[in-house]
Amino acid sequence: MFVMMASPHSYTGEDVIELHCHGGRVIVAAILDILLEAGARMALPGEFTRRAFLNGRIDLSQAEAVVDIINSRSTLAAKLAVNQLGGSLSKAVYGFRDRLVKIVSLVEAYIDFPEEDISLPHMCIINDDLHKLIDGIKFLIDSFEEGRIVKNGLSVLILGKPNVGKSSILNRFVGEDRAIVTDIPGTTRDTIEEDLVISGLSLRFIDTAGIRETVDPIERDGVQRAIDKIATADLILYVVDGTDYSDICVDDVIDKCSGVPVIFVINKLDLISDDVFDKFQAVNNISISAKNGTGFTSLVDKIIEVFGLSGSEERETNLISERRHRDALFGAYQHLLLFGQNLDDDISPEFLAVHLRDALDSLGEITGETTPDEILNNIFSKFCIGK
Ligand code: GDP
Repeated sequence: MFVMMASPHSYTGEDVIELHCHGGRVIVAAILDILLEAGARMALPGEFTRRAFLNGRIDLSQAEAVVDIINSRSTLAAKLAVNQLGGSLSKAVYGFRDRLVKIVSLVEAYIDFPEEDISLPHMCIINDDLHKLIDGIKFLIDSFEEGRIVKNGLSVLILGKPNVGKSSILNRFVGEDRAIVTDIPGTTRDTIEEDLVISGLSLRFIDTAGIRETVDPIERDGVQRAIDKIATADLILYVVDGTDYSDICVDDVIDKCSGVPVIFVINKLDLISDDVFDKFQAVNNISISAKNGTGFTSLVDKIIEVFGLSGSEERETNLISERRHRDALFGAYQHLLLFGQNLDDDISPEFLAVHLRDALDSLGEITGETTPDEILNNIFSKFCIGK
């Protein structure tokens, strides 16, 4: 069956014919052979989306969202990407650009009259628009950390001494016996990783060998692996045994975690009547029981709270999640700050206009108007064939 999609209403904006055939590799390969013999060629990775971009059907940030949708690991990540494909980021950037163009035209009008100062009413308009622009751009820049987490998920490292219940915690999250649980200390010698989606977020839990001094070379290797993982973790759950935590030094643990946020998870709550742990009062802590599941909902809430995630779907699906976008916005932001400074210093309009043009170029990198070819190639090379 052939389906004809006429220009300009197809995905690429060109005339497109889609062929539907019976399944099975042999039939598909035979049809492809006929087409190739007749002069067709295979599409390059991302070629359809690249054509859609080049033909102005979508801008670059929307093209990038196509890959994000395909790779999304959680519903929130997919929604974020769908919004971006729908133009949420483009709309914001075009809004910034319109405001910026208004300022450029006001400033450039003075270039031909170097002896004239920018009039007070014009100054007020420029300052007002400039502040709104800077605030809007800053707001998006600040959303990057949250967007990155929504898109890529969080890597959560479970650390603690042997036998405090690390594997039991992982198993409770996963809902099956993924890690071996025994009462013999030192049984988890490698790291075990599990991807889970909790509250719409993708979380990668990494269970590690308990950190302790040991002479067993295999266990020692496991301990080293646990320590190596600290640098790449977004969050550490430091598990302590609620029945025996006298030798835990909170400051030491925080020190070893070198800047990665830590939640002290006090486990085995079912064995203790008193859940007031003075020692942990000054730090993020939560009491749970891996045995009967007490406290797990609060633990998830705590994880979300530590990352300042709003928990609002509306907000979390309107963020920026791509470093490239963040860097371009930051570039625009810096040019605008410089412009503001030079404006206060009475610098002449042609120099002022340069900063504004630079800011416009930075914004253009997001939508693709000013993106260098090598970056375009890099973006589209991440696509698979047929997209
Ligand atoms: P790990 O060495 O830190 O990974 O600890 P495990 O998960 O292997 O648990 C060590 C022992 O503590 C096992 O016998 C578990 O059944 C027990 N355990 C773990 N969590 C709890 C809990 O919340 N309550 C009780 N009573 N026992 C627990």
